[in-house]
Amino acid sequence: MIHVLKHVESITQHRDRALLELGVASALFELVKAREVNLHKIVGEGDARALEQVTHVGTDGVRYATEAEIDDSQPISARPEILACVENSQIVRREHPESGAFVHCFPISVDRRVLGVLEVSCAQPLSEDDLGTAEGFLGLYRNYLSLLDYSERDTLTGMLNRKTFDESLSKILGGMAAIRAAENDSAPTRRRRQQDEGTYWLAVVDVDHFKRINDQFGHLYGDEVLILLARIMRESFRHQDKLFRFGGEEFVVTLRATSEDEVRAALERFRMAVEGYSFPQVGRVTVSAGYTHISTSDTIPEIVGRADEALYVAKENGRNQIASYEAALNAGKVTVRDKPDSDIELF
Ligand code: GH3
Ligand code: MG
Ligand code: MG
Repeated sequence: MIHVLKHVESITQHRDRALLELGVASALFELVKAREVNLHKIVGEGDARALEQVTHVGTDGVRYATEAEIDDSQPISARPEILACVENSQIVRREHPESGAFVHCFPISVDRRVLGVLEVSCAQPLSEDDLGTAEGFLGLYRNYLSLLDYSERDTLTGMLNRKTFDESLSKILGGMAAIRAAENDSAPTRRRRQQDEGTYWLAVVDVDHFKRINDQFGHLYGDEVLILLARIMRESFRHQDKLFRFGGEEFVVTLRATSEDEVRAALERFRMAVEGYSFPQVGRVTVSAGYTHISTSDTIPEIVGRADEALYVAKENGRNQIASYEAALNAGKVTVRDKPDSDIELF
């Protein structure tokens, strides 16, 4: 019992999802004497659903991937036991004769949607007691996840909040710096670095003439527009893109993409979806956005500042459009901002 409580204590001290997940997987690995425990996240919808392995604890050690590191996902159909677990939302057990392992899959559901699967692989089928232990830890994990979710999200739109934005962007910058530091200067890695440099982008989205909506229809209708906009935004961007409500009627998106065209296409898709939507009572609403490329040497205020300048260009140019900071800079529409004073020398 004391042993179990120690695990509970160590799990609940985490405010970070990755560490929380690692805590749950490690606790189960020890308590049910598993060969390995994996936590998979389910991404996408319907037939396009795929599995991303988030955490692994095994005799070979421990691994967990932050979102920036997840590159590979496998189609859910490649793992029949996981698919059955998700479709029926219940525990599934399957024997793998070739490895002599018994694989147990536990659904992780929130609001009746299965968001992930915990896979526990053992030499024997789990006993009733062990099944109970696993379910207990999953319950703890689920409750804790919903608490974390509550503190990370904006209550009106359900989007990630400003506090989460700072943490998330710091992680992106930290991940980029780590990749850079790990590389030496051999030719193939230099090529890879150039690809990584092109990876992350940030956009600031602002509703056009939102004041008029409030003035003409009242604050409640204004709020309704924000809720609907958040929904259109979730439908327009990919699940890997992170969406934040930055304040009032401003939103921020961080995107991982291999080219600027991809970023622009995603933002245009969203802009057009808003333009084509008929908001109850209010009618037509449009949005403008400014975006910029994120570099390893950037600070958060520099990135947001550049995207804001691009947004200003889009507004000046007539609104209902997307502007890139880098393109605006080349066209002489904005000037390079001085880096804030710093006593750190950049090489
Ligand atoms: P522009 O096209 O230049 O962006 O014009 P705008 O009217 O949208 O610009 P501005 O930033 O001046 O106005 C934003 C307004 O958004 C001001 C404020 O009353 C309103 N607002 C901010 N937060 C909320 C909110 O949570 N709910 C509602 N209903 N309105 C909000
Ligand atoms: Mg504004
Ligand atoms: Mg506005």
